[in-house]
Amino acid sequence: MNSRRTTLKALAAGITLGFALGSPVANAQDKGLVGVSMPTKTSTRWVSDGNSMVSSLAALGYKADLQYADDDIPNQLAQIENMITKGVKVLVIAAIDGSTLSNALQKAADKGIKVVAYDRLIVGSKNVDYYATFDNFQVGVLQAQSLEKALGLKEGKGPFNIELFGGSADDNNAFFFYDGAMSVLQPYIDKGKLVVMSKQIGMNKVSTLRWDGAVAQARMDNLLSAFYGKAKVNAVLSPYDGLSIGILSSLKGVGYGSAGQPYPYVSGQDAEVPSVKSIIRKEQYSTIFKDTRELAKVTAKMVDSMMAGKTVEINDTKTYNNKVKVVPSYLLKPVSVDLSNYKAVLVGSGYIKEEQLK
Ligand code: BGC
Repeated sequence: MNSRRTTLKALAAGITLGFALGSPVANAQDKGLVGVSMPTKTSTRWVSDGNSMVSSLAALGYKADLQYADDDIPNQLAQIENMITKGVKVLVIAAIDGSTLSNALQKAADKGIKVVAYDRLIVGSKNVDYYATFDNFQVGVLQAQSLEKALGLKEGKGPFNIELFGGSADDNNAFFFYDGAMSVLQPYIDKGKLVVMSKQIGMNKVSTLRWDGAVAQARMDNLLSAFYGKAKVNAVLSPYDGLSIGILSSLKGVGYGSAGQPYPYVSGQDAEVPSVKSIIRKEQYSTIFKDTRELAKVTAKMVDSMMAGKTVEINDTKTYNNKVKVVPSYLLKPVSVDLSNYKAVLVGSGYIKEEQLK
């Protein structure tokens, strides 16, 4: 290799690793590059996840190559392959479609690159070392319990009309959320205390591709016009704030949200600012707070323990079977949020600043 090319290569490596230009000397804390592959920037939760991953990794001495894939599967694959080529030590991946990464992960494994599934399980591959996430079944339980409380179902009130929404069927989490929610709601449906007028029950009927708010809004429009001519809908199970916003717009479009016709109770997830504002306006009823700063910390620690050959801290070795193996996991606790506690939980923890809610 001629010296000019060597210099250029060294310089390029220096830029990748973030060394100061002109002084390509690694600082003592440089433990290498970690690829962080995130699904989309359209939801602020993933933006926070990405930022927190970069800072949590930096705090432990790692540089991050952070990429967002615009919810496009081939794009995410290309970004991951590029990270492998760049020589990352670990891949941290929040998959768009959890089942499409097997070939790329085999390439990674062949090079000794470790893989952490971030928030969403990667399925169908043996090359997933760890999984960092929240208790996803509990997320669904909390969503449904917030509706149960709002409607007074435990006190025997009802019957009420409810419609159900699920997340994206290519995201393993969506099934956990739905199953968790139905563990609370199904007994009321069986007793006739909750009525699904559309009879659309089950993830095969209620899922929402790519967690797209516009898709949920269109489905809600259809439900309202087909099944709620006279009857009113009293509650909507929504698994994610972005869907809740779409569902609420649809409801508004047919006159809900007025004194005579209040909004139904609508759940959510992620404590995104537009939804917290909606909760303050008494439109959306609840959301689920998942502290993505903590998820990033746990994940960065997993990376560091793996790299140091230390025992990786996990707290679940049973729940997440990815169809090839049970992936050792660390589950964080989700927290239910509504008008009564948003200040203490979200502002109090510094996750959202008071000014952002004005
Ligand atoms: C995440 C949720 C999020 C959803 C849509 C899921 O995998 O766990 O927090 O609401 O994706 O982005």
